[in-house]
Amino acid sequence: MSLLIKNVLLDGRRCNILVRDERFVCLDAAESAEAEKVLDAGGAAILPAFYNTHTHAAMTLLRGYGDDNPLHVWLEEYVWPYEDKLTAADIRRGSELALKEMIATGTVFFSDMYFDIDETIAAVQESGIRAAIGITVMDYHPKALRDEKARKVREWRDTDRLQLTVAPHAIYTVGRETLISSARLARENGRKIHIHLSETAKEVQDCIAQTGMTPVRYLDSIGILGSDVIAAHCVHVDKEEWDILAGRGVTVSHCPCSNMKLGSGRFPYELAIASGVRVTLGTDGCSSNNNLDMREEMKIAALLAKVTGDTALLSAPQVLQWATRNGAEAFGYDAGVIAEGKLADAILVSMDGPKMQPCHNLISNWVYSADSSCIKHVICNGKILL
Ligand SMILES: [Zn+2]
Repeated sequence: MSLLIKNVLLDGRRCNILVRDERFVCLDAAESAEAEKVLDAGGAAILPAFYNTHTHAAMTLLRGYGDDNPLHVWLEEYVWPYEDKLTAADIRRGSELALKEMIATGTVFFSDMYFDIDETIAAVQESGIRAAIGITVMDYHPKALRDEKARKVREWRDTDRLQLTVAPHAIYTVGRETLISSARLARENGRKIHIHLSETAKEVQDCIAQTGMTPVRYLDSIGILGSDVIAAHCVHVDKEEWDILAGRGVTVSHCPCSNMKLGSGRFPYELAIASGVRVTLGTDGCSSNNNLDMREEMKIAALLAKVTGDTALLSAPQVLQWATRNGAEAFGYDAGVIAEGKLADAILVSMDGPKMQPCHNLISNWVYSADSSCIKHVICNGKILL
């Protein structure tokens, strides 16, 4: 399959881009270059698409449900009772709704953690985007049957768009032995490990009370941390812990909207960046965001970084890299930048609307001014999805 994207703006100049066998093969093709499909971009800018490294797709069903309550009231009186009633068919519909929103807002990959994963997998297969679907591990959860999970992890074969991960939910829902055995299961089968980590001050206090250690030190002491780990949130992490995360090669998924909405706290940008750890962006689930819009997530991250006074902290190009290339690389995709030889994932952003004009700086406009309605087309693995 080949695709010629005509009249597209790349690095300040108009060009034609040729895609063949899922990759960008020429960024300066002739207008007459032969391709099975031609897309006239009409002067739209081509930019990397988004890689959402932490979400719970089917939680679109809980969008706007029980908002503005304290965390424990929201969980105990709203989220958990609602989730108890969800059927597999509900999860399918929630996942489909999420995929619709993700594609419309320029996301071509998401890393998920939820239940009834076969339903989400089926929705992803139909949609054309990429995903890392996490098998949730939790003690005392009726949908967390360990033997079935182990079999699925061993038998599953990844494809170019779909991979399976092992997702021990968090240190407060998964005990020590199960954390160790689920990490072993993941590593024996070459799967990544997706976990919530140091999201709230309470999680840290409880962990110290129970183990004498903070969550990062605790996970490190039992051998969980490694370059195959994607840790979501990491809000309450001290300087020495950032060095541990960076030293182990852990990828962090920063979820600013969720952290703000649930009152979890401000991500310590200064420490994270100084440590050299790989940071990516995630939306978290719709119940704590309340959307899956990664462009909005970029803007909020960049603004939240600056609220303490350092305006240079987390520049527009840097947050764009967190939302795109860093996420792709964390999950092993040779993508996330518009370059010859890379996998052809991209968005085309219209330059016609008022939010993109004037254009002193394209990346600044995209991060700080635009909204996702500026997206004209979304391309994943060389195919036009929008
Ligand atoms: Zn989450």
